[in-house]
Amino acid sequence: MTQSSQKELNFRQSVDLMFNRAASFTDISPKMIEKIRVCNATYTVRFGVKLRGEVHTFTGYRAVHSEHREPVKGGIRYSLDVNQDEVEALAALMTFKTALVEVPFGGSKGGLCIRPKDWSEEELERITRRFTFELARRDLIHPSLNVPAPDMGTGEREMAWMMDEYRRLNNTNIDNIACVTGKPVHLGGIEGRVEATGRGVQYALQEFFRHKDDVKKAGMRGELDGKKVIVQGLGNVGYHAAKFLSEEDGAKIIAVIERSGVVRNAKGIKIEELKQHMLSGAPLSEFAGGSVSDPDPKAIEDACDILIPAALEGVINVDNAHSIKAKLIIEAANGPVTAKADKILRDKGVFIIPDLYANAGGVTVSYFEWVKNIGHIRFGRLQRRNEEGKNRALIEALESQGGLKLNKRFKSDYIEGADEIDLVRAGLDDTMRASYGNIKAALEEKPELEDFRTAAFYTVIEDIALHYRSIGL
Ligand code: GLU
Repeated sequence: MTQSSQKELNFRQSVDLMFNRAASFTDISPKMIEKIRVCNATYTVRFGVKLRGEVHTFTGYRAVHSEHREPVKGGIRYSLDVNQDEVEALAALMTFKTALVEVPFGGSKGGLCIRPKDWSEEELERITRRFTFELARRDLIHPSLNVPAPDMGTGEREMAWMMDEYRRLNNTNIDNIACVTGKPVHLGGIEGRVEATGRGVQYALQEFFRHKDDVKKAGMRGELDGKKVIVQGLGNVGYHAAKFLSEEDGAKIIAVIERSGVVRNAKGIKIEELKQHMLSGAPLSEFAGGSVSDPDPKAIEDACDILIPAALEGVINVDNAHSIKAKLIIEAANGPVTAKADKILRDKGVFIIPDLYANAGGVTVSYFEWVKNIGHIRFGRLQRRNEEGKNRALIEALESQGGLKLNKRFKSDYIEGADEIDLVRAGLDDTMRASYGNIKAALEEKPELEDFRTAAFYTVIEDIALHYRSIGL
C-alpha cells in the first residue's frame, strides 16, 4: 500500500483509536470503556440574526463529552470548518486533558460555523450574544454546569460579550461571571490567561529537558538552549510558545509556517517582530527578519529538533508523517497528528508530547480564573504584603545580626510577595511538572504503554473509571 492510499480517519475516529489503544492496556470492562469514550450529548442550534437588512442563519454546537465532574469545560471555536464530529472530538480531548492535569472539570466543546473576518465587530457581538442566549436557555453556559472559554477564532472580546449576556439573564446569581473563562482581566479574568496555553507548552518542554532519558530517547542532547524549532501557526498559542521559548530559553525558531507563507531564518526568527509585522497588516513577503516563501504545506517536513504544530487538527497525517524530520513533536494544537500518522511516527522513533498534556495550560489557568471568580477575590490580595513584611524582616535580620551584605537585586526579588501573575505561573508550572510525572509513573508501572500519548490516555481512563465505580456505576 502506498503511503497516501491509506485512508485517514476523521478527527473523532482518530481520537477514539488513540483512546482504544490505551484502553486495551487496562483491565476495565469493555462496557465501562464504552461509557468513558462516548460523547454524552451534542446540542446543535440554528438561529437567525438580522444583519445588513436580512436574516442570516447560523449553526452552532456545544458537545458535552463527560459530566463525571462538573462544570464541564472547554472552548468555543469560530470557524467555517466547525462540525459535529470536530466538536465531539475536541470535547473528548477536554475530558481527558482536564483529568490528566487534575483540573476538576468534565469535558465540553463548542463551535459556531462562521468566518469572523466576514463580519464587523458590532455584528459579531450580536451574533455572539444570540448564540450565548441559545446556550444559556439549555444550561450549556452556566457557572456550575458548563463553562466555555476561548478557542480558535475567539478570545477575550467574545468571552466578555458572553459573560455580559449571561449576566443580564442571571443577574441574581452572585457567581454569574464564572460562566466563562478567558475574560479580560478588568471584567473578572485572570492575569496570564491569554498566554497560558503557550506558557504551558514552554513549561512542558522545560520539564522534558529535565528528563535526560527522554531527551536521549528523542535523539537529542543538552538543553533547550540552541535547539532548532519550527512553529506551525502563529496564533495565540504558537506565538506565545515561540516567543517564550526563544526569548527566555534560547531556542532558535528557524521557521514559522503560516497560512500566508513560510518564514525561515537559520539564525532564529525574532518572534515579536514577526508578530508585530503580521498585526500591522503588511504582507508577510515584506518581513525583513528572514526569507519568506509562498504558502507551503511541505515546510512542516523541514529538518529541525522540535516541531510545534499550533494550528489545526490533522496537519500531520499519512501523507506527510513518513517525511517528518523533527525529533520531537509537541502538540500545541488539539489533534494535529492523526492516529495513523502517530503510528508511523512512533515506528520512526519520533518522540511525541501529546495534546492532552502539551496544551493543557489554557484550561489549567481557566480553572484558576473560575476559582478566582467564585472566590470573588484576586489571588495574592490577602497575603502579598504580609509575605513581603516577613521577607523584609528576615533580610534585615540577616544583614544586621548575621553580618551579611546581600546583593540589591537578590533582596528586592526575595522580599517582593507573590502577585496574581506569579501565583498563576507557579501554579501552571507545578501542574505541568506534576502531570509529566504522572505520565512517567504510568510508563514505569507499565512499560508496554511505550509512548507518552498512550500513557497519558491510560492514566485518565483509570482515573475516570475509578470515579464512575466510586459512585456506583
Ligand atoms: N480552548 C482551550 C483548549 O482547547 C481552553 C479551554 C478552557 O480553557 O476551558 O484547551
